[in-house]
Parts: sequence; structure tokens; C-alpha cells
Amino acid sequence: MSLIEDLVLSYRILASHGVVDAYGHISVRSDRDPNRYFISRSLAPELVTEDDIMEFDLDSNPIDQRGRSMYLERYIHGEIYKVRLDVHSVVHNHSPSVIPFGVTTVPLRPLFNTAAFVGEGIPTYEIRDFQESGDVIIKTPHLGASLAKIVAGHPAALMRGHGSVVVGGSIPAAVIRSIYLELSAKLQAQAMLIAGPGGAITYYDDAEVAATTARQESARTWERTWELWRSKAKAELAAEARLGRGERSENQSRILQLWQRAAAACGCGRRH
Ligand code: MN
Repeated sequence: MSLIEDLVLSYRILASHGVVDAYGHISVRSDRDPNRYFISRSLAPELVTEDDIMEFDLDSNPIDQRGRSMYLERYIHGEIYKVRLDVHSVVHNHSPSVIPFGVTTVPLRPLFNTAAFVGEGIPTYEIRDFQESGDVIIKTPHLGASLAKIVAGHPAALMRGHGSVVVGGSIPAAVIRSIYLELSAKLQAQAMLIAGPGGAITYYDDAEVAATTARQESARTWERTWELWRSKAKAELAAEARLGRGERSENQSRILQLWQRAAAACGCGRRH
């Protein structure tokens, strides 16, 4: 089990939970040099393999670019690693349920067990406070640093009209928080709909937040979660590798035959 393997698997896990789609990324601080981090080249998360992982310094300059294209928003990662020495993994995503909370004044609040960390506070980053109005992409070190300032000591921050950034002391911590942040936002919106305007919703109080997060830490609750998600992602990768070696499943062979027959019938198969 290597850091890079876990990083690759985490791209799959985030995608399979709908936290990232063709966009979004996760990085990990290097275990050999705390002033460097690893992240994929610019690629859709589900396509990431170990060969796609690149190393960067904390100014987000590539160590060995070899012509590979890079994520425009990599400054999110480097600038957070500079100021949060406790953070070893950063996720940036556009997961859908958090977006409404970034564009309204309704704060995200803790309402269930696995997202109790929301009670540690999720601030919202307003990019207009740091640049003239324009697009919302974190494409400069300045914007990355300003986002890191808003994240401060929190587990995550919403990015108005864009998505969120989630941090953790390890890859599993950042992945698990990202997935449960999305679920928490979805459940809070549902609770607010059911309660109606001005309706009462019972959120966790500070003591419940502290007790729940402390117990999850001491009971190593997340190991079970990570083991499950990791093994599923690993099986998926292994299956792809087998298919890549030509060991197609019966179903796939049948689909291929149908496709070839259809292509032959319309005469359009030659292009493919
Ligand atoms: Mn983005």
C-alpha cells in the first residue's frame, strides 16, 4: 500500500460517490518531503492511474512536467499546504448539494453522525473579495493563498458559485469528509424543505459535535469506511487492467459483437 496507490484510488472513490465528475481533484502531501505534494495531471478523475501522478513544490511548480498538462486550480493545494502543516490531503470539488449553501446566507450545520465535523465551521470563500469580478477559477497563487486564509483552521470551506475545498490529516480523512459534506448538505436541504419556512430543525449542539468527532477519532471509525471504499475501487481498477489485457467479459464481447454488426450495417465502422 503506497501513498500514490491510495491517491489514485481516492480519485475513483470520489467519482463513484458523485463528489467529482470530469472535474475536481485530490492531492496528498509527499511523505518524503513536506514541501512537495502529488496530484494528477489535468485529467478526469476516473481516468487517473499511477502514471498520471505529478509532483509539485508548494508554489505549485511541477518538479518534472514532461509536457504534461496541469490543473489550473492546483494553487488551491499548494497554498493550503503552506499554511496548514496538519493537512496532508486536499480535495477540491464541485459536488452539487453544497453549491446552494455557498450562494445563500444559510450556513451548513451539523445534523447527523458521520458529518458531525460540519459543526467545526464551514466558512464561505467570496472570490470577489480578492479580485475584480471575473471567473471563479483559483488560477493564481494569490487566489490560492486567499482561499487558504478563509479555510484557516476549518475542515472545509465553500467557494461561492463554484464548489468547495476539503482538507484532512490524511487521504482517507479528506475523502471521507468530502463525501459526507455532500451528503450533509443534501440532508440539510431536505430537512429545511420538510420543516418549511421558519420550521424547527434540531441540529447537533457543540457538545454533541465535540463528543462525536472525538469518539470517531478514538474508535477509528473511519478505518472501516476507508477499507470498504478502497477495496471496491481497487477491484474496479484490477478489472479494468484485466480488460486492458484482452480478457473481456462475456457481456463485453457480446456488446462488441452487436456494435460491430451495427457499424457494418451503416458502414460507419471504419472511423473507429
Ligand atoms: Mn473548480
